[in-house]
Amino acid sequence: MRYVSTRGQAPAASFLDAILRGLAPDGGLYVPESWPSLRPYLRENRGAMGHAGAAAEALYLFAEDDLSFAGAAALANEAYGPESRFAHPAVAPLRQLDGRTWLMELFHGPSLAFKDVAMQLIGALYGEALARSGERLTVVCATSGDTGGAAVEALKGAGAVDLFVMLPKGRVSEVQRRFMTASGASNVHPILIDGDFDDCQAILKALFADKAFAEGASLSGVNSISWARIVAQAAYFVTASYALGGDGPVNFVVPTGNFGDAFAGYVAKKMGAPVGRILLATNANDILARTMATGRYTRAAQSNATISPAMDIQVASNFERLVFECTGRDADRTRALYAAFAQSGGFDVPAAALDAMRGTFSAIAISDDETRAAMKAVHASTGELLCPHSAIAAAAAMKGAEGWNPDGPVVLLATAHPAKFPDTVEAATGVTPPLPAHCATLFDRPERADALPNDAEAVKRYVRERSRAWR
Ligand SMILES: *Cc1c(COP(=O)(O)O)cnc(C)c1O
Repeated sequence: MRYVSTRGQAPAASFLDAILRGLAPDGGLYVPESWPSLRPYLRENRGAMGHAGAAAEALYLFAEDDLSFAGAAALANEAYGPESRFAHPAVAPLRQLDGRTWLMELFHGPSLAFKDVAMQLIGALYGEALARSGERLTVVCATSGDTGGAAVEALKGAGAVDLFVMLPKGRVSEVQRRFMTASGASNVHPILIDGDFDDCQAILKALFADKAFAEGASLSGVNSISWARIVAQAAYFVTASYALGGDGPVNFVVPTGNFGDAFAGYVAKKMGAPVGRILLATNANDILARTMATGRYTRAAQSNATISPAMDIQVASNFERLVFECTGRDADRTRALYAAFAQSGGFDVPAAALDAMRGTFSAIAISDDETRAAMKAVHASTGELLCPHSAIAAAAAMKGAEGWNPDGPVVLLATAHPAKFPDTVEAATGVTPPLPAHCATLFDRPERADALPNDAEAVKRYVRERSRAWR
């Protein structure tokens, strides 16, 4: 399986090259040359499918040039098996809320967010790739709150990796911040950027765009454009749709920011899993809801700070992969649209592509008040405490959206543990969610971080001074 760029002007890459590089050299995102089928696997595993098994199969199908099946299974077992860092043996357990609605709990990993699911596998993959090549890497990431903590938990102490995490100063919760600043690991460098998440993401792009810098630092990324993340996340859409989809497809409600998790659902569907419709639930940063309603993908003037900070994202990076798919894999078209986006901050999705998108996706924006009301309602009727992001999924399912009339089961993705946002949860429900036992020392450990201005050159200097990969 080779990987091509959505913008069509980069050489095809292997799976490992695509994930180590992150962004393709022409500025596009890597996508697989074709969609492998899970159908034989789904037939054979009827009745007994665990997360590690589904992830091993997905990883193998996407990485068969780089990994044997046994190799993929070993990595999936390291990430999700009995010795893994997930506090629940199912990794992504389903909890029933009412006659047709389930909650998929994706927050049992070491940093209490769904980002752990992908990052634990990426940690194992990096270990394998670097052991093979004997090289060192500089990993940089921009985080709206949860990617950073998950990356720290996955890569802290990794001998061949230096990790630099850019987080928007003052825009993440204290628990989120501590997962990044209190690791105590000397290979982890948290950087508080004086700006918002989109500023952090723009700096990240600038680091990769500087070829001399990127090469000198052996730069690699773990942001949601990483193909490995999409593959790891597709696994839980497979297990959930399969567990509940006895008679037909299963529908999903996905709280979305960078469109990575939701795109993973689309990938599972493309591979033959019984995934039906996917409802995209945004907060006030509603670029995807506006796009699905109007066909115009356009950046708002400013980002809104909401009570679901991990979704305070204006540019949904992975949407480029859907544009590529839904234009019939037309790289020239995709490149032209994104050139227009860079110039003017917007483009019109071609009509046929918009129809194709609407064939799977609906979308709705949820306000902070609606989010709080959903937290309260779900707690009152089921006893479940939802984090604000997960509550956006619950609110979206209650509110509905154009084209969303699912028959069959509905799965709400619970993307973070409520204890990551204790103040917001308490204000909405009157209950303070306790930190799970496996994170008990989070508030006892000292924090360490450096503050930098919203300036790519300053970040480059900082990385250059500290990265052991520099050559
Ligand atoms: C990152 C994140 C999201 C959004 O996921 P995307 O893949 O960026 O769409 C939603 N909820 C939580 C808690 C997150 O950390």
